[in-house]
Amino acid sequence: MMTRRTRVALPALLAVLLASLASGQTRPKNVIIMISDGCGFNQIDAAGLWANGALDREVYRQSGWTRLAMSTYSADGTGYDPTRFWADAEYAKQNSTDSAASATAMATGTKTYNGAIGVGLDKKPLVNLCQVAEKLGKASGVITSVPLSHATPAGFLAHNAGRGSYAEIAREMIDESAADVVMGAGSPLFDDNGKTREKPDYQYVGGDKTWAQLRAGRAGGDADADGKPDPWTLIESKQQFEDLASGNLRAKRLFGVPQVATTLQEGRAKGAPRNDNVPTLGVMAQGALNVLSADPDGFFLMIEGGAIDWAGHSNLLDRSVEEETEFNQAAEAVVKWVEAHGGWEQNLVIVTGDHETGYLCAPKPEGGKPNAGTRLTGNGKGQLPNAEWNYKSHTNSLLPFAARGVGADRLAQMAVLNDPVRGRYLDNTDMPNTVRELWGLGQAEPAGNKPPAVKSAATKAAEKAAADKAAADKAAADKTK
Ligand SMILES: [Zn+2]
Repeated sequence: MMTRRTRVALPALLAVLLASLASGQTRPKNVIIMISDGCGFNQIDAAGLWANGALDREVYRQSGWTRLAMSTYSADGTGYDPTRFWADAEYAKQNSTDSAASATAMATGTKTYNGAIGVGLDKKPLVNLCQVAEKLGKASGVITSVPLSHATPAGFLAHNAGRGSYAEIAREMIDESAADVVMGAGSPLFDDNGKTREKPDYQYVGGDKTWAQLRAGRAGGDADADGKPDPWTLIESKQQFEDLASGNLRAKRLFGVPQVATTLQEGRAKGAPRNDNVPTLGVMAQGALNVLSADPDGFFLMIEGGAIDWAGHSNLLDRSVEEETEFNQAAEAVVKWVEAHGGWEQNLVIVTGDHETGYLCAPKPEGGKPNAGTRLTGNGKGQLPNAEWNYKSHTNSLLPFAARGVGADRLAQMAVLNDPVRGRYLDNTDMPNTVRELWGLGQAEPAGNKPPAVKSAATKAAEKAAADKAAADKAAADKTK
């Protein structure tokens, strides 16, 4: 029964509803993609068992999130075949992507060769999500716990045929991009323990001249010139990052380089206490969100926990769980921010990785093979879980994928394939294609498990070698018949 009160309130409610529909509430105002570099399902479990003594506390497994899996292979690979993956322990080591190709796929929707930063197989530049955001009048930014010009942030902001051209990549980010926030390790003046270096190394920040311009507040634009981006405000000290996060420091365009060389924490000496002169990834994320949310049109932000991969390459379980825990804390900071700024009706948050590193599995049975599908068991909070590494590099494993907010349901529709162990999965290229669709730019088609449209020279050569060998084997077999 309608009371007089509701009769009055209903038209007002309807007006609000219509206004919100008209303002495009089906479109996320802000999109935040969080990438845990090198993190697969078992790294998450390992970190949960270590940090909480229990599984299932991370966003990947919390209710409210759309939880899927994601394939990651690059154009140098031949795709992901669930049947082969779960039948053959060696298959995981084949066809893997690197961080550059994966970041490019997640930023542009195009599969490319390993090592490519924002360029296709033809080495021509592709449009990344930061550029899409800027075109829509939104702000954009990238932040990471490894050097700011490293593969993942570079793939979201720069264009270069080779991921190793750090200085060139940094200069593109600083001098040519329209981004509003760039933060990451790579200080020229500090080592991995946060101590002053004897000899500066300027490669990650674009060279000594660019660094001098950053420090002078002159890099990236001219404050007096119309139509040009504003110059970067450079921050370096832990206190400045904390002030930015708490709102005590403001900047239009923010360039943050913590006082450490290649990683916030992972690269410090064995057994050393945590570097205490650098911010956490969570504090960096809060600061970045403060700067970007000043844009009334919204923003795109990529947040990378970059060193889970480095711990995986080194097969260091203690550093892996520490890094993944810091990433999880950054995710919690993002969730808190979202809930205080428009909630899940205005924001879309995606939490995933770029590839698994180290083939981390539960201990093998005597004489058996590694099985990534066996759940890890723990030894209590603060103790390393029962797990072992089976590789020193990247694998072609599916990754955890979690999304929440406006458009999470649309991402679920992209997961058209099924894995017997991980369940429904989408491809890493589905992510940017869906974000573009959500922002009103075209329609996304699920990638499925299509092989790359154009194969790279390396893939073609490998296929030809395999075909030649098969032909030779067949000829030899025919002879003996
Ligand atoms: Zn790696």
